[in-house]
Amino acid sequence: MAAVTTISLPGLTKIATGKVREMFVDEADKSSLLFVATDRISAYDVVLENGVPNKAAVLTQLTAYWFSVLTQPGALAGQTTPLSTHLLSLTPGPTALLSEAERAILRGRCMRVRRLKMFPVEAIVRGYLAGSAFAEYSTKGTVHGEPAGVADASANGSSTIRFPLGMVRCQKLPAPVYTPSTKAELGAHDENISRAQAAELIGNPAHAARIEELALAVYTAAAEHALKRGVIIADTKFEFGLDEETGEVVLADEVLTPDSSRFWVADQYEAGREQDSLDKQFLRDWLVREGLKGKEGVTMPADIVEQTSKRYTDVYERLTGQTLESALAKIE
Ligand code: ATP
Ligand code: MG
Repeated sequence: MAAVTTISLPGLTKIATGKVREMFVDEADKSSLLFVATDRISAYDVVLENGVPNKAAVLTQLTAYWFSVLTQPGALAGQTTPLSTHLLSLTPGPTALLSEAERAILRGRCMRVRRLKMFPVEAIVRGYLAGSAFAEYSTKGTVHGEPAGVADASANGSSTIRFPLGMVRCQKLPAPVYTPSTKAELGAHDENISRAQAAELIGNPAHAARIEELALAVYTAAAEHALKRGVIIADTKFEFGLDEETGEVVLADEVLTPDSSRFWVADQYEAGREQDSLDKQFLRDWLVREGLKGKEGVTMPADIVEQTSKRYTDVYERLTGQTLESALAKIE
């Protein structure tokens, strides 16, 4: 299947375009959204000119897989209220406003979702000290502004050191930590913030506490699941929204995908050095080799596109234990 980098659905109203997704609403039913992934890919914060076949299907079907695993009874340790997600269906639903050709393009890459009021934070959870968190730790001795080596009193009265002193690059943290960031507008960078700052942005302390609790519980369950399949989820980013009708805090967006997470091969993991990411490393290495890192307007040659697509599909298959074709075959 050829890569699709823009989606045009003249019968619907496009309400937003992100780096990867486009969102549409049907004027007749504004309570739900058509959430559509494109095959666009970014590396070093720049979106490449051409897309990666099957990437949208991997992101969408992997998110759907996680939603199904994580909403099983008992999936989240310590949670009495089950996880609620934004997914309504993996098809566009019975709208008369889409042609057969448009439905064919949307197949596998779209979700009908509850339209939520998104909280303006990225709920990052880290199991390992990598990326911007390690950079801050090694230069300033803090992580998201929190000093390393200092005990942090948790809500249940116990006190733990979230970031011990003397950690090396990519080292496993004593326990997963919630380290939120701001949600920057398109083109700007997210900023790492403290939990107190995140709570302020969220506005309601009960919502802030629920987001932290769910983010940690979802990460912990997923990391355990992935490790059994040979994949380390080093860190990940969730987005939550408020269902204004029910007052529920809902897990939205994409979850635990290669675009929102750092995935490492467990049996190649070694603390103290950079790890290869399971999907984008190949593309990043090519960009660096060609002197194209961070440049705008780059088109990938066919073999790089093909290899990158293969890696995304491979991540899907490792994590879910099924082929992408078999998942796609189940969608009506
Ligand atoms: P990136 O993911 O690379 O940081 P991005 O988030 O700007 O970029 P996309 O992932 O392409 O871009 O777009 C998804 C957008 O949809 C995000 O702004 C997200 O907050 C929003 N969103 C996700 N789920 C819902 C929902 N159920 N209701 C309303 N908005 C949603
Ligand atoms: Mg996004």
